[in-house]
Amino acid sequence: MPAPYFGRTEIFWCDRHNLPLIRPKSTFCEGPFRRVSLTPPGDIRPAFVGDYEFIIKAISSITSDFDIILRFPILLNKISYIDRMDELIINGKKFGIMRYNINRKILEFIPSKYGAKILYAVAMHSSNYILEDCKKKLSYIIVDRDAAKAIQDGANVLRPGIIEYSHFDKGDYLFVFSERGELVCIAQAKVNSTEIYETRKGVVAKNKIKKIYVTPKDCEIIFLSLESDIKKLSEVVDICHKEDFPRYYSKLGIEAYDPFTFFPEHIRPIWKAILCVNRKAIMSLEKEAIGFLRSLLTKGKDKPFIVSFSGGKDSIVSLHLAMKAYKELFTIFINTGIEIPETVTYSRKVLERVNSIMSKSNKRMIFITASESKVILKDAYAEIIAPVKRFWTGFYLLGIPGRDWRWCCKTNKLAPARELIDVLGFKKTLSIIGIRRYESRSRAQEKRIMHNLWSGQVNVYPIHNWNALEIWLLILLRRLPVNPLYKLGFTRIGCWPCPFNQMFEFKILEKLKPKLISFLNQKITSYLKERGISDKEIVTILEKGLWRWKKVPKVLGSMKVIPRISIRKYFKLEKIKEHIYDIIPKEPMSNKLISYLENLFKRYLDSNSLFIEEEQ
Ligand SMILES: [Zn+2]
Repeated sequence: MPAPYFGRTEIFWCDRHNLPLIRPKSTFCEGPFRRVSLTPPGDIRPAFVGDYEFIIKAISSITSDFDIILRFPILLNKISYIDRMDELIINGKKFGIMRYNINRKILEFIPSKYGAKILYAVAMHSSNYILEDCKKKLSYIIVDRDAAKAIQDGANVLRPGIIEYSHFDKGDYLFVFSERGELVCIAQAKVNSTEIYETRKGVVAKNKIKKIYVTPKDCEIIFLSLESDIKKLSEVVDICHKEDFPRYYSKLGIEAYDPFTFFPEHIRPIWKAILCVNRKAIMSLEKEAIGFLRSLLTKGKDKPFIVSFSGGKDSIVSLHLAMKAYKELFTIFINTGIEIPETVTYSRKVLERVNSIMSKSNKRMIFITASESKVILKDAYAEIIAPVKRFWTGFYLLGIPGRDWRWCCKTNKLAPARELIDVLGFKKTLSIIGIRRYESRSRAQEKRIMHNLWSGQVNVYPIHNWNALEIWLLILLRRLPVNPLYKLGFTRIGCWPCPFNQMFEFKILEKLKPKLISFLNQKITSYLKERGISDKEIVTILEKGLWRWKKVPKVLGSMKVIPRISIRKYFKLEKIKEHIYDIIPKEPMSNKLISYLENLFKRYLDSNSLFIEEEQ
């Protein structure tokens, strides 16, 4: 993936204090600072309580002895993959990759060279450097001297050289040792360990992390340096403690959503230290963004300033910045009707807080019904709640929404947004939106100020260039309230039936809201049954989340197309410009569908143009 589309793909590390830096400067020392390059796009973020649980699950697949790793602050770098995949950064080094394997339905961990060394040293240390005891803790294969030499040079693990092995399943990652306990590679099993006994030849495991060479003696040195890394952290925590960390809290803070509680308790003081060393850098980022927003005051003279609040981390930061920049501000919350309930509770608490800070009278509260939607209107904010039935009617008439069949963002997000602007009577607005270039390629190409083609509305993105770590540091600095879903391991806040959710996120949701997920599964099942899909296929479609595409990606199996209605069967689309079509209905089209679509799009449409995305 070419980096220029996105932002910076690096952070810095102070090895003297063992802390990450967003810029090559620290409030603790003069450096030197080491550059840590990240796999693009490089939207690095802190690991929270839920993430630590996943890290434990993932690393358990390769070793049972790694508690010491959990004493470090861990940074996660999201990598493009069919589901959740994160690079783990510990001590300013790539420690390994954690990913959710949809086909195997497990979290996998693939250590880097550094991670493999550390995990071996940790297991050795707690076994008093006795290999016999150490290997009981690991998934491993032991090979003879000749094989070890070849493997160290990059060869795969073949049956003939194997002397001994632990229990493992096909697909597992394994430590490969020589008889003398030299670690020579990390390999991925091509067979189950139970099959090895009966075979005489062939590849048993594929060499994945080559050119490793760690002797049992090396382990002692590696472990000592790991202990010194921990010691550095406890020293910085002491410094911070003595320094009496200054308070910069925002009025928006709500105790129940205190971001520091998102970290495991023993990591919290270290994050205070990380915040402390990055304090000046993050404050100058904040100052720049507020300055940018203030510079719009003249440009947006007759336009009301609106913050679009979604319940995510980027929008709480945007809201905070806008409240610092402007005296008058109006916040809107588009409740899609299919939000995760935690998001609604959280957002309403935040909006009430905004109202108590910004409103003059604090009295006005009106409920209006706009078409089928409900609007809650107060002095400083409005919430529009899209009817839930609109989504499920669309589900029935247009088909299950998909990543390549995106109608629900129009019906349950954009249409209500348009309705709300109508209700509020704003002709033109200047909307402050928390979009960041790291999120996607198309977003990376947007500018910081965008003029909307249709409405004359201006969108501005004050945090366009920020990475997730910078967002989180400002949240921590100002103690901004954060959606509790992040604590559980969500990386983006969306609707609960959203096809853009990872299977990994559906797993978290299933634990959190089992009724919602079983309702969704019922809806998908009956939709597919009506179209003649067999029960067996439906099981696979649900298990792997194949319904999230019209054209299923190849890596997820042989099923190519999950049937949806063809819009083209009912409409002729005439392209006006990129993404914009004139729709001309064809006969016959059911009255129900016509009225649904009319109702759906009438407020969203400008003239007769319909915005339908059929992504390839
Ligand atoms: Zn330092």
